[in-house]
Amino acid sequence: MTNSLKNRIIILCVGLVLLTTMVSLFSFWWSTSEFNEKKVTQDINVAENVYKQYLSAKQSLLLTAAKVLTSDFGFKQAVATRDADTISSVLYNHSQRINADLMLLLDLSGKLISSNTPQQNFSNDLVQLMSELLNNSEQSNFVVLNNELYQVILLPVKAPRTVAYSLVGFKIDESVVLELKNLTGLDVSFIAKGDDLVRSSLLERPVPFIPTEYFHKKTTSRIFGEQLVYRNRDLSLPSLNQHSVNVMLSADLTQSYSEFERLFFTLMFLAAITIVIGIFTSSLLAKNLTMPLSQLASLARQFARGNYSVDAMSKKQSSEISTLIDAFKNMGNDIQEREQQISFAAKHDTLTGFYNRSAMLEVLNEQLNKDREYTLVAIDIRGLRHINDKLGPRIGDDCLKAVAGRIAEFSDEFGGLHARIGGDEFLTVFPSDGSQNFKNDIVGLMAQLQACYTIQKLKINLRFSTGVVQYPAQGLKADDLIRRVLIAVDNGENAHESIHYYQAGEDEEHLERLVMIDELKQAIADDDGQLFMTYQPKLNIASQKIDKVESLIRWQQKDGRWISPELFIDLAEQSGLIVELTEWVIKTVIKQVEQWQKNGIYMQAAINVSAQDIAYPGFHSNLVSTLKNYSVAPALITIELTERDMIENEEKGIQALENLKAIGVKISLDDYGVGQTSLGRLKMLPIDELKLDKCFILKLDESEKDQFIVESTITLGHQLGFSVVAEGVETAGSLELLKSMKCDHVQGYYLSRPLKADVFEQWLKEYNNEHA
Ligand code: C2E
Ligand code: CA
Ligand code: CA
Repeated sequence: MTNSLKNRIIILCVGLVLLTTMVSLFSFWWSTSEFNEKKVTQDINVAENVYKQYLSAKQSLLLTAAKVLTSDFGFKQAVATRDADTISSVLYNHSQRINADLMLLLDLSGKLISSNTPQQNFSNDLVQLMSELLNNSEQSNFVVLNNELYQVILLPVKAPRTVAYSLVGFKIDESVVLELKNLTGLDVSFIAKGDDLVRSSLLERPVPFIPTEYFHKKTTSRIFGEQLVYRNRDLSLPSLNQHSVNVMLSADLTQSYSEFERLFFTLMFLAAITIVIGIFTSSLLAKNLTMPLSQLASLARQFARGNYSVDAMSKKQSSEISTLIDAFKNMGNDIQEREQQISFAAKHDTLTGFYNRSAMLEVLNEQLNKDREYTLVAIDIRGLRHINDKLGPRIGDDCLKAVAGRIAEFSDEFGGLHARIGGDEFLTVFPSDGSQNFKNDIVGLMAQLQACYTIQKLKINLRFSTGVVQYPAQGLKADDLIRRVLIAVDNGENAHESIHYYQAGEDEEHLERLVMIDELKQAIADDDGQLFMTYQPKLNIASQKIDKVESLIRWQQKDGRWISPELFIDLAEQSGLIVELTEWVIKTVIKQVEQWQKNGIYMQAAINVSAQDIAYPGFHSNLVSTLKNYSVAPALITIELTERDMIENEEKGIQALENLKAIGVKISLDDYGVGQTSLGRLKMLPIDELKLDKCFILKLDESEKDQFIVESTITLGHQLGFSVVAEGVETAGSLELLKSMKCDHVQGYYLSRPLKADVFEQWLKEYNNEHA
């Protein structure tokens, strides 16, 4: 049996029923036995009275009979004359008349003169008896004569003096006993102790002797064990001194026992029924009580599973349970509400209320349907960080909200979805018919987005990059589509396109690039020779000396594969890894310059850096501390920066370059001539050197046009106070032309390819020997 509430209630109820039954049984038993006791006593009292009246009636009958006899004149005369025949006939007649069993005439000494039953032979003890009876005249006594019990009275026969005595008596035989029993309703026993004689209604026939204890102690076996059969009361009867005679009234208790037992069994039966009913009702009660509890428990489990509907509960409940159920319902509603809030927060961007990236992924996976076509457009706000930095994050947030509003307007019109999938990136997905129309729609969206924003009274123009992917043509799964649309945005941004339609293969390329970025990162960290620097000499035309080199990085992977610097530098720039890479280059080159100094070679080294390096706040201090570490003069280092990189981040970049120039580092404008830097701007830049792009030099000896451009650029550079370097010199002819154009330095394969440091040293030695 489990320790459940239900079982406890049943046990309690059954226990109560049992206890009640026991108590009522006990009180019933108590009151019944009390009542029986009283009744028996009362019965005995009544019987005693009846019995006494009976005996006194008998006594008066005896007395009357004796008086009639003794006062009968004829009889007296007959006694006086001792007329035996007359006497005996009188005695007989009288005895017949009053139904006396005993009618004796005794002489004065007590001897029998005559009797009504002449055949009876009395012993001598009549003499003795008489003498005792004489003391008790006028009152009956109980005596035993000839083994029979009698109620007798003795009266003198006077003529006029006493001449004889007459003894009159009724035999107390079975019939008397029975009569008394009938009258009193109790058993009657006469007991003459000294004579060992018993006349009793309890005995079916006379027995010689039964000790009275027999009646006192007689027991009967009942359900409560051995019980006395009789309740007895002894009454002493007037009797003679030597032979006391008692009468014993015996109330038979068996019937009251049986009655008690019957009642007991009835009660037991009722108790059993009550217990059965008790068990039934208590289990019903327990069920009623525990059912809502187990319902509530299952409700709680249901809540745990996230199901908060409570309709299944039955309505018939007590007020407490109803209150509890109501409390549960409210709790369920509250939990549900909070859960909804939480799940909303988990799925939505708090600023714009748009889906977040993971929710969008989920929704797309659910909704994308192969039977329809969709267009995914990812929108990146360019330069939002600038707005945050310059105007504060609140304006930045308001910009995001405003952009989100326009995107929602657009996507709602198309019945599309929208999400914020990054800090400044949104995604909208809308059904499209696959025709070229969707391109117009996207152009429309861009126009809408690019329209001027008014945010907190500020007029703000925002620029965007968008990537576009088509479902299902360019991907089936939501995560593929989202990845591709973001790649499209990135590629568009790199290509400076405002809308970039995803092209097959871009994803794979992107993945390859990701892998390569990872490998590059590892190569920088390991510094195990995969990355190394090469140095390409620059010839000073005036002095005919090699006084400068350009440092150029190389990457040969462990498997021997060469990665083009153009490719991995581009990757490093896109991934932000360039800062780390440039730090490595600076350290390696400066260390090399120090080494050359130690070897007696005084060489200026140019280091290529990108716009990101210059913009990086730690760039300057890193360069300065590295120069210091290796005791290299800043004037030995030239920073090469392309025209485009210099323009990209103009203000900050120019300031940073000026700071470098201030400490003595030289600045070279790389790939000059391919950009459209105006002369005016060129004047403003803190540069020392113009490096003509190799596209003008490679075919210089063949192209008059190039010759014209190069010559005028050199002249112009000189006029602005810059030294001019030509790279990509592959032929002697080009070199001769550049000499005649008064170019300051030349660099190119004609002179040497970029060389490893030790090879370069060897090369330099040979070169100096040849040109000594
Ligand atoms: P760049 O700065 O314009 O470097 C000059 C490139 O022209 C080098 O290519 C060089 O090997 C090549 N070159 C030199 N003379 C000739 C010639 O006579 N004919 C031809 N056809 N090419 C010649 P490289 O080494 O492949 O470098 C390519 C670009 O990679 C560099 O262009 C530069 O932008 C970048 N780069 C290389 N090393 C580094 C570096 O250490 N840091 C950074 N940030 N960029 C680097
Ligand atoms: Ca360069
Ligand atoms: Ca160059």
